[in-house]
Amino acid sequence: MAISAQDIKRVKGQGFLLNRGTEDFSGRIITENGVLTAEQMAALSEAAKTFGNGTMAFTTRLTVELPGIPYEKIEDFKSYVAAAGMETGGTGAKVRPVVSCKGTTCVFGLYDTQALAAEIHEQFYKGYQNVALPHKFKIAVGGCPNNCVKPDLNDLGIVGQRVPQVEEEKCRGCGKCQVELGCPMKAAQVENGLVTFDRSICNNCGRCLNNCPFHSIHSEETLYKIYVGGRWGKKIRIGTPLSRLFKKEELLDVIEKAILLFKSCGNAGERFGTTVERLGMEETERLLSSHELLDRKDEILSGN
Ligand code: SF4
Ligand code: SF4
Ligand code: SF4
Repeated sequence: MAISAQDIKRVKGQGFLLNRGTEDFSGRIITENGVLTAEQMAALSEAAKTFGNGTMAFTTRLTVELPGIPYEKIEDFKSYVAAAGMETGGTGAKVRPVVSCKGTTCVFGLYDTQALAAEIHEQFYKGYQNVALPHKFKIAVGGCPNNCVKPDLNDLGIVGQRVPQVEEEKCRGCGKCQVELGCPMKAAQVENGLVTFDRSICNNCGRCLNNCPFHSIHSEETLYKIYVGGRWGKKIRIGTPLSRLFKKEELLDVIEKAILLFKSCGNAGERFGTTVERLGMEETERLLSSHELLDRKDEILSGN
């Protein structure tokens, strides 16, 4: 093959993946949160015709790959997409492109998932782009417990939560309680003239919040459930949920601590789930709750 193995590896690190059986590459465009503007899509259509084979392939991790790009056109392709505010990448043992469900517009969404994914992209995909990790680190942002984006199968997964509370003085213990009837989990029940929630069943989907005609159900702000150590693929591991829910202002710190934990305690070639299992959940939670890892950030990152 005319292109050296070293060059193939080099451009892979920039998001250009060799097309099997050819000497052409797929350029992987990072979408930040799965959203592109109409202008960006038009630019990609043009780029697919100008540099590639005229097609675009959407990946399961919300990136867009343009196949059929010859090696010698890679630099021009990068400049072309950069002019439309896009970049290639998303490979290697580092923080990978963030995926988000469509919670921003979905009727079940409990918060703006795409805005949060964009924030995480900026802070941890871009911010940690030069940080080598023991293995890839995937982050998923889910809007509700329907888990469409499978947060618990990512190294770190986020799920929006609304925890229902009853205002006892307003609840009338109705014979046909709309909260009880409308709960998809059968977690709400009227007992002794009052609606109660079985917290071991309730998944905090928040669907009951507007169901009571007497407005007896409310919830505080959206909280976030965080799963750590999930993965799909050769060795499956369902992520372990941290033992409490988090507020928005705590969320980014926990993500950063998880990345620093992986960087400092992970063995080369292992996924975060294996690191978590070796440390144990008690120690993992202790480290993710304390300020220790952030205090050691410079020291941890200098071990690159
Ligand atoms: S996880 Fe919930 S908010 Fe996100 S797309 Fe699915 S149903 Fe909608
Ligand atoms: S939650 Fe509302 S609908 Fe259900 S029993 Fe109480 S008052 Fe009636
Ligand atoms: S939050 Fe969802 S699961 Fe929990 S009681 Fe309300 S409707 Fe049921």
